[in-house]
Amino acid sequence: MITKERMSFISGYVDSLFPNAKCELFYNQDYELAIAVMLSAQTTDKAVNAVTEGLFKEYDSLEKLANADIKDIERHIKKLGLYKNKAKNIQGIAKTLLNDFDGKLPSDKDALQTLPGIGNKSAGVIRIEIFKIPDLPVDTHIIRITNRLGIASKKDEPIDIERKLKKLIPESSWIKTHHQLIHFGRYFCTAKSPKCDGCALREICKFKNISS
Ligand code: SF4
Repeated sequence: MITKERMSFISGYVDSLFPNAKCELFYNQDYELAIAVMLSAQTTDKAVNAVTEGLFKEYDSLEKLANADIKDIERHIKKLGLYKNKAKNIQGIAKTLLNDFDGKLPSDKDALQTLPGIGNKSAGVIRIEIFKIPDLPVDTHIIRITNRLGIASKKDEPIDIERKLKKLIPESSWIKTHHQLIHFGRYFCTAKSPKCDGCALREICKFKNISS
């Protein structure tokens, strides 16, 4: 476990690189964000945005999604992996919101996790984005970065990393740092070609020598 001072240095650095980092998923209505977050499992936000634009245009209400022909939903999202399962989840989310939540996205974390395909991480992302509730959900980028920087270890599950980060970072900065760490992983400390040569975290990074 690193110190709060070191975490503050890391947070300050990603803040300087990505001061305006924010969610990159496309949506118009609250429930569309929940669907987009569910679809983003094991794929990129860019790939999700490429399919949701057409899907949300054709099915512009929960009722339409709930009553859609599942094959047509599959057709819209076919470019994504696991599309058959994800199509079922889209319809499941629409039906659950209509049947159990009066058609409104709940803000409670446990309630959100009753939606098909929505787990702890996705619920955290939805709470941050729609309800501005402080949280620090951990995705694949944050797992990689926290391992490289010695914040987490290989045996840590995402929930363990989330707990560690929450202890190291003031609650008032959880949302901002969540977005900035994801941007750092997506555009700078990438899985295959991290920009180690120009990285101010080289001195404290366990991974730097591999790429340089
Ligand atoms: S030194 Fe390289 S691997 Fe380490 S945090 Fe910086 S970019 Fe990532």
